[in-house]
Amino acid sequence: MVLRARSKHIVDMLETIRLILMKRVQMRRDQMMKHTGDLCPKIAKILEDMKKKSMEFIAHWNGKDEFEIESAYGTRFRLHLGDKTCSCRRWDLTGIPCPHAICGMYYMGHIPEEYVHECYKKETFINTYSQLMGTLNDMDMWPKVDFPPLIPPKCENLPGRPKKHARKKDPDEVKDKEKHVKKSGKLGKKWCYHEMLIVPPT
Ligand SMILES: [Zn+2]
Repeated sequence: MVLRARSKHIVDMLETIRLILMKRVQMRRDQMMKHTGDLCPKIAKILEDMKKKSMEFIAHWNGKDEFEIESAYGTRFRLHLGDKTCSCRRWDLTGIPCPHAICGMYYMGHIPEEYVHECYKKETFINTYSQLMGTLNDMDMWPKVDFPPLIPPKCENLPGRPKKHARKKDPDEVKDKEKHVKKSGKLGKKWCYHEMLIVPPT
C-alpha cells in the first residue's frame, strides 16, 4: 500500500499515507454496514465450516456445563461450555467455537453464534472504525513554525567492500563471447586464452 508513498519526501510520504488511511477507514466501515448478520463475513464462514464438522461427533453430557465429545474414531475431548474451553484448545486460542464445542451447543439447543468472541462481531468492527480521521488544508495553508526544517539523515559508508561498477560492454563483445560458449556452458580453450591475454601455444 505504501509503495506509491515511500519514494517521496518525508512530509509528502506521511501525507500520502494519511490519505490512504482516511479512505481505508471510511471504506471498511461502509462495507461492514452493508453486511447482514451479526458476525464478520470471514468469521461467519469459518463458523459454518465448524458446524459441518461438528456432525462427526457425539456429545456425552455430565449434567451441568461439561461434556465429553467423542469422534467416530473413538477420540474424546473435554468440553466446558461455561468456561468456553475445549481440550483441543482451538476455542481457547481463537475465540471461535471448535466443532466439539458446537456439538455440545447443539446438544443443549444453544446457538453457536452467541459463543463467538465479541471481537468478531459486526458491532465491534463498526465501533472500531467509527473514529473517522480529520481532514486537513493544503500544505501552503499550514501554520508556520520556527523549528528547523527536516533534513535527510547523513549517508554513512557501510562496512564491507564497496560494490564494483563493471565496465559497460559493447553489444558485439557480449555476442562474440556467447558464440564461444560450448554446449556444456563452458568457454572454449581458445576463448580462455583470449580472456587471459595469453598467446595460445602453437
Ligand atoms: Zn475442541
